[in-house]
Amino acid sequence: MIDLKNLTIKSAHEDLKNGKYACRDLAEAYLNEIKKNNKEINAYLAVYDDVLEQADNAQKKFEDGTATLLTGIPIAIKGVILIKGKRSAASSKILENYVASYDATAILKLKKEGAVFLGETNLDEFAMGGSTENSAFGPTRNPSDLSRVAGGSSGGSVAAVAGDMALAALGSDTGGSVREPAGFCGIVGMKPTYGRVSRHGLMPLGSSLDCIGPIAKTAEDAAIIYEAIKGHDVMDSTSIKEDTYPGTNKKGAIGIPWDLIKAEGVDKSVQDNFEASVEKLKSLGYKVEDVSLKNLGLALAIYYIIMPAEASTNLARYDGVRYGLHVNGKNLMEDYMRTKGQGFGPETRRRILLGTYVLSAGYYDAYYGKAESARALLKGEFNEAFKKFDLILTPTAPFPAWKIGEKSDPLSVYLADIFTVTANIVGLPAISVPSGFEVGRKFESAK
Ligand code: GLN
Repeated sequence: MIDLKNLTIKSAHEDLKNGKYACRDLAEAYLNEIKKNNKEINAYLAVYDDVLEQADNAQKKFEDGTATLLTGIPIAIKGVILIKGKRSAASSKILENYVASYDATAILKLKKEGAVFLGETNLDEFAMGGSTENSAFGPTRNPSDLSRVAGGSSGGSVAAVAGDMALAALGSDTGGSVREPAGFCGIVGMKPTYGRVSRHGLMPLGSSLDCIGPIAKTAEDAAIIYEAIKGHDVMDSTSIKEDTYPGTNKKGAIGIPWDLIKAEGVDKSVQDNFEASVEKLKSLGYKVEDVSLKNLGLALAIYYIIMPAEASTNLARYDGVRYGLHVNGKNLMEDYMRTKGQGFGPETRRRILLGTYVLSAGYYDAYYGKAESARALLKGEFNEAFKKFDLILTPTAPFPAWKIGEKSDPLSVYLADIFTVTANIVGLPAISVPSGFEVGRKFESAK
């Protein structure tokens, strides 16, 4: 039996290299866990039928000496990242039968390494949400406590890894969707610098914010995946050229925006846990100081103008003609209305309305234009702060994972993004690492 609980990419690679078990054995071990637990957790919407075939192909790389760290590693893929010939439904009724016709660049890169793709994971419809409760195919449950959300929008990918149904996963992060669920489930989620990983083949949501990011059990594993998927891509005009990527200049200092962390609405348990982490960092010799970012408090408002604006533009393509679901009406306008009415869930419709409103004539300057100006100010403040600090530290979310169905007001879910959206607005890299559990980690004890 392979000890999946304590397995990392690094250790699995050693085992495969030493012939302790074969790629097929590893893939089978994960397929068994999926069979046992996915019904309850709902991390996967589909498990691919060629997993063992992929594993056997990976094994050949070990035999001919071309294996890399990711060869034979079973990975879960968020249902908005395209794999040729596989369904990618974005957890939406409108794309329920959509099969991708090409591979995302990140997928192509992983294929080259011989990674094994296990299946399509659940998410909030089109990646809008913070709990995976907005999926058209039911919520994903938190493997640590099945009564709670796994976070979102990459809840399926994160729960797959946290529940030992994949060794790692890919998610997408527009305002925290890799990091917040990773925080809620106690694993690592990383959002790369904007443009560092190609967006080609990632269904667009907020095009100036979207990033594909790795989800893993350790920071080292996340780095292994990141190294494999990063790089300039001619298929994505916003992807960064290697030589324009800024280097690091270590100062050994951490900045903390205490004003925001001490604000009303941030759970006491989160504040206490965060303070304990800060003390630990201090005892390890880090210089920790208060950082003042004057417009940080505006980040959530900026995000919830820019993101729906871009989302409404991107979602216009799902009109019943080009892709997916088509519902007949008496004329073209009725076709559109019926298709979108039946195909999109309530949160998606809400964002389309919000987005078209802030972009409409007469309101553009008042909302969208202002949000873009405030975004530029915030970018400037971060540039200034990084002259002094190596990193800015905050909790990932202002409260721990909530009970499924507990938050019926969408605004209260938006608040979960208060710490994460900033990195997307200014294009910075960000990572969520575990720092304690409110409930027992063990899946067994959660029942
Ligand atoms: N929770 C955020 C939202 O609902 C983030 C989504 C994301 O990163 N895809 O917009």
